[in-house]
Amino acid sequence: MDKFSVLAVNRHRMKNDGRGITSLVALAGCPLACPYCINRELLAANCISHMTGEELLAKLAIDHCYFLYTGGGVTFGGGEPLLQSGQMAAFAQLVPHEWNLTIETSLAVPEDFLAPVLSGRFSFIVDIKAMQSEIYQNYTGKENAQAVRNLKRLVETLSYDSYVVKVPLIPGYTGKSEVAESVEMLKELGVPEKNIVTFSYVK
Ligand code: SF4
Repeated sequence: MDKFSVLAVNRHRMKNDGRGITSLVALAGCPLACPYCINRELLAANCISHMTGEELLAKLAIDHCYFLYTGGGVTFGGGEPLLQSGQMAAFAQLVPHEWNLTIETSLAVPEDFLAPVLSGRFSFIVDIKAMQSEIYQNYTGKENAQAVRNLKRLVETLSYDSYVVKVPLIPGYTGKSEVAESVEMLKELGVPEKNIVTFSYVK
């Protein structure tokens, strides 16, 4: 199995990354260039650890009891974790089945990167940014057609309790009406309203 390229592991997180107490594994690499990226410096810096699935498991297993008692587990974020989906799929074979595994993603990757983790073992937190192609391109520097195709596939494949889709208000790029429009476009795509979370990048 290829090694993971890991930026950081953050333990004992609550509420932001799924149920219970979670450890966030931030993976290196991202195809997008969001101006508000909080990991931009980390992504640009040369501070990547390369580790096998077994090595990562050993690092995370210290919190096994927390995961069991709170219904938590491991969340892969980034960067864009789907760039390392083969490693994540293999990792899922190693971990105790009680651990929840979650992927926080933009889905802005070729569909071959999504396929290995659509087994139902992983839950997804999708940051779709904006459904309007022009706004998305302005903000990320890339088209959103691939991300939207992947979201459609995810919605058609997984059960409703396996994913949420986040729509941010992005100052300078989207306002309330653009966020509302994205929500409507997501509903048309088949995402239930209860699975859509709106929020602002600025508190
Ligand atoms: S998708 Fe996430 S990690 Fe990638 S540039 Fe945007 S904010 Fe940063």
